[in-house]
Amino acid sequence: MGLLSEGSPLSWEDTKSHADHVRTHGIIQFLNQFKKLRDRTKDVLYWGDEVEYMLVKFDHKNRTAKLSLNALPVLDELQKTEKEHPDNHPTTWRPEYAAYMVEGTPGKPYGGMMAHFNLVESNMKLRREEIRKLLAADEYPMSLTAFPRLGCGNFTDPITKPTPTDGASHSLFYADQVIFQGHPRFRTLTRNIRQRRGQKVAINVPIFKDKNTPSPFIEDLSQYGDNGESAKAAKPDHIYMDCMGFGMGCSCLQVTFQACNITEARKLYDQLTPLCPIMLALSAASPIYRGYLSDLDTRWTVISQSVDDRTDEERGLKPLKENKFVINKSRYDSIDSYLSCSAYSNIKLVYDKDIFEKLKSEGIDDLLARHIAHLFIRDPISLFSEKINQNDEEDTDHFENIQSTNWQTMRFKPPPPHSNIGWRVEFRPMEVQLTDFENAAYTVFLVLMTRVILTFELNFIIPLSNVDDNLRRAFKRDAIREEKFCFRKDLLTDDSPPIAEQCVIDCCEGKTCTQQDHFTQMSIDEIIHGKDDYPGLIPLIDKYIDMTEIDVDTRCTIQQYLKLISDRASGKLKTTAQWTRDFVMSHADYKHDSVVPESVNYDLLMKCAQITDGNFDPELLPVSAKSKTSDNIPPAMRKVDAYLNKKNPRNGEMTMLNNST
Ligand code: ADP
Ligand code: MG
Ligand code: MG
Repeated sequence: MGLLSEGSPLSWEDTKSHADHVRTHGIIQFLNQFKKLRDRTKDVLYWGDEVEYMLVKFDHKNRTAKLSLNALPVLDELQKTEKEHPDNHPTTWRPEYAAYMVEGTPGKPYGGMMAHFNLVESNMKLRREEIRKLLAADEYPMSLTAFPRLGCGNFTDPITKPTPTDGASHSLFYADQVIFQGHPRFRTLTRNIRQRRGQKVAINVPIFKDKNTPSPFIEDLSQYGDNGESAKAAKPDHIYMDCMGFGMGCSCLQVTFQACNITEARKLYDQLTPLCPIMLALSAASPIYRGYLSDLDTRWTVISQSVDDRTDEERGLKPLKENKFVINKSRYDSIDSYLSCSAYSNIKLVYDKDIFEKLKSEGIDDLLARHIAHLFIRDPISLFSEKINQNDEEDTDHFENIQSTNWQTMRFKPPPPHSNIGWRVEFRPMEVQLTDFENAAYTVFLVLMTRVILTFELNFIIPLSNVDDNLRRAFKRDAIREEKFCFRKDLLTDDSPPIAEQCVIDCCEGKTCTQQDHFTQMSIDEIIHGKDDYPGLIPLIDKYIDMTEIDVDTRCTIQQYLKLISDRASGKLKTTAQWTRDFVMSHADYKHDSVVPESVNYDLLMKCAQITDGNFDPELLPVSAKSKTSDNIPPAMRKVDAYLNKKNPRNGEMTMLNNST
């Protein structure tokens, strides 16, 4: 999870007093790196996934499932191989926000060979196995997006007790010990977000109204020790949560790509942006919060609200006095501007004009300057005393401090100093799935999409107001079956004329675009499989695969993955969210009052663990689904690749048809 500086965290007051210092030097550091690296080119495609796991402890006698706060010792063990063999470890492990989470990535990023797609699932299996070996027999490493009873009574092992008037979060439900204790960053962020905001964060998610759900649904929060602050923040008919852990304690699946140069990275950042809501809806996996069925299927707005550190002034509730900007979004939200075309960046972009001017005067172009000046409207929310003074020629910690706490749908990552890593783009919206098969499928699908975009020079850009509107639709219950999404009609035109306000409004309302016939409303099924002249994402991927050299096993694996995406898109298979919802609603102990009791939680998670182990449920996964994933590339193929690479290092790479180098 982003930058992990070691040291002694400053109080919020002290951090705040250094905010301008961090921003000023962060910008200098960015400029220094940019000047060194802007012309860096001929980097190859590298990519990798990140999967976040939860450690779940089952008590089969009492039929409970709890979160095991065991990540610290487990992580110490998991990281041993990397520590002993820094250049050769099959998996890489990092801490995450909660004491029940660990994050695993492949030991090395994958490269440009098609055969690399066949390694992903195998590496994911290995990761899960590495964790599992360290757990007790009744514990299980689960890739759950949201633990259903997070924040309910004794939901942790060992039992923890929240401290509503003390500590980092002041939560009524989530004790500070549930935050990962091995690094001060997570506690500090939690405290500073609350202090900066001037009150606890307030997360409200619409409750799913079942026939026995009280109406209006209003909880008595005094039973949890509320002094009135929470009762005021909780909305009727919503599930209320009050700390960072409810959001950052969710798990996700992220994918990072290295582009061949900065231009290609900016292009990918833009082109993948309209796919964010689509992939969020396709991966929807989290319908339950704090033990209640919600009316949403995804975690996004929960995390967004869980780290919303904006003050009343910044949220527009009071006139600006102490703060500089009214800010329209949380630090965890969708992006506000494209990086390579401006016409469709039609939403309010709040940015720091002084920083923008400084960047422009140093030769940064308008769009990139605006993007960075937008990220830098935020304060640093953690700072370590040892890190205040840095060498701006060599270090980038101040830049990374602000960059890594702008948790947006897409992240544009400049190359780190002193490394051979190039310009990268991170795709961040997807929810993590129960099985390695699914997580590999979503990852591979997305990487293939980047190849399709670059190879066929496709244009997915729609106005950002429509992307945001799509995202709101993607959150909703059964978005795949019920919602339509604004999508580009013709992917082959790259003209992006300024767009009239009315056209955007019409598009959002599902009417035909008045200005030009650029956009249309499509279901996820149509986006994936095609409609009228528009061929659909899977047929485009199929075409790409037909054009590439690919071994039989990898081809078979990819076909299995595409089948999963296809069946989820068409509604033939359920999303994890739909499946979870149906499981709860048909459970004998569910009383149709939106409450997910302990026994249902236990049965649900036991079922999830079985699915993860390969006992696929035919409503969720193709029963025959079996990839040919492997933990290595056949030696003969490796030999050919090495031979061709000697002559031309970019030979055989999947980006070969891209002209933008
Ligand atoms: P974050 O910024 O989210 O902390 P990391 O930089 O730690 O993410 O890694 C995210 C993913 O990027 C991992 O899967 C890793 O394998 C992959 N990765 C590492 N190096 C590169 C690279 N040069 N290009 C693309 N991906 C890379
Ligand atoms: Mg993470
Ligand atoms: Mg990441």
